[in-house]
Amino acid sequence: MQELIQLQRDFFNTNATKSIAFRKQQLQKLEDVLKSNEQLMYDAIYKDFKKSEFDTFTGELALVYSDLKEAKKKVGKWSRIKRKTTNLLNQPGKSYVIPEPLGVSLIIGAWNYPYQLSFAPAISAMVAGCTIILKPSEVPSNTSKAIAKIVNENFDPSYFKVIEGGIPETSALLNEKFDKIFFTGSTSVGRIVYQAAAKYLTPVTLELGGKSPAIITEGSDLKMAAKRLVWAKFLNAGQTCIAPDYLVVHSSVQEKLLRLMKKEVENSCFSTDNGNYVQIVNHRNTERLIKMIATDKIYLGGKYDLETRTIEPTILNDIHFDDAIMEEEIFGPILPIISYTNIDEIITTIKSRPKPLSCYVFTENSSIKNKILSEVSFGGGCVNDAMMHISNSHLGFGGVGDSGMGSYHGEEGFKTFSHYKSVLHKSTIFEPNIKYSPHTDRKLNILKKLFKFS
Ligand code: NAD
Repeated sequence: MQELIQLQRDFFNTNATKSIAFRKQQLQKLEDVLKSNEQLMYDAIYKDFKKSEFDTFTGELALVYSDLKEAKKKVGKWSRIKRKTTNLLNQPGKSYVIPEPLGVSLIIGAWNYPYQLSFAPAISAMVAGCTIILKPSEVPSNTSKAIAKIVNENFDPSYFKVIEGGIPETSALLNEKFDKIFFTGSTSVGRIVYQAAAKYLTPVTLELGGKSPAIITEGSDLKMAAKRLVWAKFLNAGQTCIAPDYLVVHSSVQEKLLRLMKKEVENSCFSTDNGNYVQIVNHRNTERLIKMIATDKIYLGGKYDLETRTIEPTILNDIHFDDAIMEEEIFGPILPIISYTNIDEIITTIKSRPKPLSCYVFTENSSIKNKILSEVSFGGGCVNDAMMHISNSHLGFGGVGDSGMGSYHGEEGFKTFSHYKSVLHKSTIFEPNIKYSPHTDRKLNILKKLFKFS
């Protein structure tokens, strides 16, 4: 690993990655190799957790291709030197910031969208001009192998290399010095990564998880809410970091929403009878999820098969914030429903919990919407939809507090892997001697005035 990191550092120091032409060429190469290996990726992910080609394309590759397209188009613009205002004190002069790549980057991925969570940060690193060591999640082993094959057979290790492995390999990597670490995963491992990075003062982006609420107020479009929430919760069998973890529903609309959601589930492809229903990633997680199903609270579903690692779309009604299921991120197809009558109490309760990665508000009431958006802290979210904010790269994507720090996709990804070097370029025409000795009262008065106006 030390040799590989040194190889990448030496390559970075040749300045080759700073050329826009090089970055465009590598982004194009990544697009070409991904396109020519699509079947390999579909087969691998199906073997790991029965994810269909449709779900893999829409939930993973489409986002990767869209990031690639934008990166190729905007790399020149984003990398340009940006002029800034020069204050009076520094006249005559020019001021600007120069974006520069941070250097050798380490990207650590999570398992739930293995292609997207590996390649999207890699695109951000490439467009910024960093070299990349990518460690995908070892949990879906076929997918991890596919990612390693695609990258390692097509890219020079001095620029882009995949290292496969679990905790020992990741820990060994984290012992080394990088110029940037980008981590996607759980909050607990995020803390380990942050501590390891502190040793070298390495800048870190942490894309973590948490319990993301969806709040449904009275007077909201319930039919639309039911449709969008069922899709967002049960896609990928609920194994999505920004899936609504739980619903908080106004008591006056609760029954109707539940009925509409039941109908939506019945009409959807989210069924254990459907060959395309995604499996839970492993036995350990299936067992963890089964324990969360409080049988006396089941409104819908609740059946499971440990052997095939499948759990029906399950809705649990009459849940309270102090129930066991409200303690940890669910990350599976189980949806608890909490009823409310007073929005202020709900806001206070959500604010007393760790800051979520996402928050969704379903309402036609703009004062409640504004109250939630201004008072609740969360990474990102939607009004009258769920999860779709990730599909708009102009927004950037990331968490806050326990759900992470930093953001990526689009220009935010470029910034995440860059440092903006600030430069004051002074004219040599003249130099007022006001800051030099002797320090007189007259000079001090002029300086005070200058600072006031500059
Ligand atoms: P995880 O934290 O268990 O693993 C993530 C990565 O860290 C893997 O590559 C793994 O090999 C490595 N790792 C695990 N334990 C480690 C240790 N002790 N030391 C060093 N490295 C270690 O997370 P996961 O189970 O793969 O993913 C699920 C979590 O990720 C959920 O909390 C989910 O919300 C979150 N997530 C967040 C985003 C986001 O964009 N914010 C996206 C997907 C998943």
